[in-house]
Amino acid sequence: MPEHKKRVALCGVILESNAFSPIATEADFREALYVTGAEMVREARQPVSILPREMAAFVQAMDATGAWQPVPLLLTGCPPWGPIEGDFFRACVADIVAGLVAAGPLDGVYIANHGAMVATDNGDPDGTLMAAIRDAVGGDVAVIATLDLHANLSQTMVGATDAIIGYQTNPHVDQVQRGEEAAMLMRRMFAGMAPAQHMIRLPLVPPSTTLLTAAGPYGELIDYGQRRERNRLGVWQFCFLGYRQERPVGRRHRARGCRQGRPVGERDRHPGLVQPHRLHPRHDFHRGRRGHRREG
Ligand SMILES: [Zn+2]
Repeated sequence: MPEHKKRVALCGVILESNAFSPIATEADFREALYVTGAEMVREARQPVSILPREMAAFVQAMDATGAWQPVPLLLTGCPPWGPIEGDFFRACVADIVAGLVAAGPLDGVYIANHGAMVATDNGDPDGTLMAAIRDAVGGDVAVIATLDLHANLSQTMVGATDAIIGYQTNPHVDQVQRGEEAAMLMRRMFAGMAPAQHMIRLPLVPPSTTLLTAAGPYGELIDYGQRRERNRLGVWQFCFLGYRQERPVGRRHRARGCRQGRPVGERDRHPGLVQPHRLHPRHDFHRGRRGHRREG
């Protein structure tokens, strides 16, 4: 019997919103990135793609790891700007949901978003999109998203997805690895693995100048979190900085983790997750990079 080709929908609405900047209009998105249908897959398979690198990497990693059928819907994005126009955002969600319904039975959905978007009339459009996708496909379909580490993670996003994979580098240079990781995780879910994910919100808003990842407390946290996966503890941990200009009011530092392999009970509710303020007191983030010496 021929192998059932796993059918995976592809989509994304990418924006990092600064509440003090002008509204990001449909024209802004269409000028920067707006691809639908077969063009998305064709572009993803180019040696040099116009698509966000995580989407191209996801498609190429799925191509390299077995039979599958991409179901490309809508991928649009705009460079960092103000809130997305509400009408345009709702139209994007409606297009994606209509595409999911029209596609028939699916095995997975991959979402490439930024995660720090606001709309003119919605404080968490990333969460709204993910929840609409989950509603459309139901609970048995693998839904995996990748986000920038400046994402403002919400419980809605975490509740609507099986796994959220965040960049681990700032400046960002690991989009390809994260797209490949999303594909590998989807393959593992197709083989029966069932991830559980948790979000821990920390009462900490570190200044962005101390949040580079090559050295210092933030880099050490990311390295520590990733070692837990390398040591086969089955825990992936991502630390999201949040983007404090998303809204004029205060932001909070967020961290989340994904424990793979089995559901996690109430007793180990935060299963082995590193809480940054336990490893590094708040002042480590505030006084600058620990142990850093100016060179040259
Ligand atoms: Zn970023």
